[in-house]
Amino acid sequence: MGRDPPDAGRPDREGSTHPVTASALPETRTALDVLTTVFGYDHFRGDQAEIIDTVLRGQDALVLMPTGGGKSLCYQIPALLRPGTGVVISPLIALMQDQVDALSALGARAGFLNSTQSVPERRAVEDAFLAGELDLLYLAPERLGVPETVRLLQAGKVSLFAIDEAHCVSAWGHDFRPDYLRLTVLAETWPDVPRIALTATATRQTADEIVRRLELHDARTFVSSFDRPNITYRIAPKDSPRTQLVDLIRAEHTGDAGIVYCLSRASVETTAEHLNAHGIPALAYHAGMPAPLRAANQSRFLREDGIVMVATIAFGMGIDKPDVRFVAHLDLPKSVEGYYQETGRAGRDGLPSTAWLAYGLQDVVQQRRMIDTSEGDAAHKRRMGANLDAMLALCETITCRRVQLLAYFGQDGPACGNCDTCLAPPESWDGTVAAQKVLSTVLRLERQGQRYGAGHVVDILTGKPTPRITSLGHDQLPVFGVGADLSATEWRTVVRQILAQGLLGVDSEGYGTLSLTEAADPVLGGKQEVRLRRDVRTKTSRTRKPAAAAADAELTPDAAARMEKLRAWRGATAKESGVPAYVVF
Ligand code: ADP
Ligand code: MG
Ligand code: ZN
Repeated sequence: MGRDPPDAGRPDREGSTHPVTASALPETRTALDVLTTVFGYDHFRGDQAEIIDTVLRGQDALVLMPTGGGKSLCYQIPALLRPGTGVVISPLIALMQDQVDALSALGARAGFLNSTQSVPERRAVEDAFLAGELDLLYLAPERLGVPETVRLLQAGKVSLFAIDEAHCVSAWGHDFRPDYLRLTVLAETWPDVPRIALTATATRQTADEIVRRLELHDARTFVSSFDRPNITYRIAPKDSPRTQLVDLIRAEHTGDAGIVYCLSRASVETTAEHLNAHGIPALAYHAGMPAPLRAANQSRFLREDGIVMVATIAFGMGIDKPDVRFVAHLDLPKSVEGYYQETGRAGRDGLPSTAWLAYGLQDVVQQRRMIDTSEGDAAHKRRMGANLDAMLALCETITCRRVQLLAYFGQDGPACGNCDTCLAPPESWDGTVAAQKVLSTVLRLERQGQRYGAGHVVDILTGKPTPRITSLGHDQLPVFGVGADLSATEWRTVVRQILAQGLLGVDSEGYGTLSLTEAADPVLGGKQEVRLRRDVRTKTSRTRKPAAAAADAELTPDAAARMEKLRAWRGATAKESGVPAYVVF
């Protein structure tokens, strides 16, 4: 895969036409004929021609192509050309009717089978399939769990199986659908029917899992460039996210269609109300809403101009709305894959679009807590932790976001020049002493057998004598006020990054209290430097330079004495040689 195969974001360039020669095909009509006469396009994009050719020749294919790249044609055209019916497995039940309508409008013969149909409706589709009158049959994955469906498919003629949104088979992914595990039946029952799996997810792990679970060992793999050059990536420190969102829309996206993702249903509702109250037309979408209302909101978003859809991640897969001008996240996504998919819904028409994420300390606390309290074994938690760490690294990077994002998918390229970090490179500073102050505070509380959340730790550091602090006697701690050199906001930024770097953990009981991790040892021991990023805030002015402030913070005189006690307390004898000389405030 090269640096610049064309993709959805970019208008197709001259010379990217790959005509399929008629001689290569069993049919007199060529793929290119179908592209022009049925779909009305004049040339293939990217790998489309080769993918179609592969399936036409009866070979399996695995297609990793970004959202909007044009995956549908990769199975629709072979389905129109090969004898029999192309069976498309899709989790998007709500969109099946739309897809079938769109194909019918083009003169293709298409139908679907899912749980929303009445018996007569289903019969009609089954009869058409058995009579060989369908080019395409869309199937919800759970249908394959019904023995009649398998018998039905065996009784008719299947030309190919297309497994759309194939990443849903990944148990570790962000979109796991247990029904996808049924798809092994395809290879077992129809070993001679070609299968094409398609997804906009591209990590090695997910691709490997798709190959393994769908038995695509002999498939040809096609990987497109995942770069979406028309999307500007921005990640902002979270202050008051709804106000920040309104500011963003008013400043740059008045009258534009957009999607706003929130973690909770409650937050979806509140945010939609907030936007409407500020004159921005917004609709809500989450799994807790009645299905008809959800469907109505979705179709208004698709058909009307300038509507903002506020939603949980239940919304968006398979939505083909080309002119979504911005995707905003008010909460941290759980993984880079999720972030990439969700932001990928912006700018499918190739015009400039914004991906904006508000991210703060509370996000890290909340996500770590969710992982700890989630069901699943240790391996599952490790995997989720790794996903989160990669997402945090993207948030905290001081280099180009796009480079970081593509690197995650194993692709490389130069700095983009239009993401927030390219446009306003954040300073990094030596936050070692600041980190030591935070860690020491947590350590001192742990020594007393206590754990507190970030807010309390920041109050101690800044020397704020709140009633809670004084009643607990925390104003007597040696660390009380050692952080007066930075503001509370700056300390929260420091704590957030220390959490992101894994030097602190969050309790699993659900209170968000902080605890030291093993990784904190070398930092407290003065053996490891901590680099921190200085948040670039568009509104708040910078008051002081943390780098300078951190540099003049000296060790307290009795640090050595405390270190001794501390070593004893931490059972340092157990790991004699590697024991760090703790620097404790
Ligand atoms: P994906 O499933 O990869 O997200 P779709 O298959 O929905 O993408 O295609 C996205 C859009 O691009 C659709 O509107 C589709 O009609 C259009 N498209 C696909 N292939 C071509 C092509 N070769 N030329 C022009 N438009 C195309
Ligand atoms: Mg698609
Ligand atoms: Zn950049």
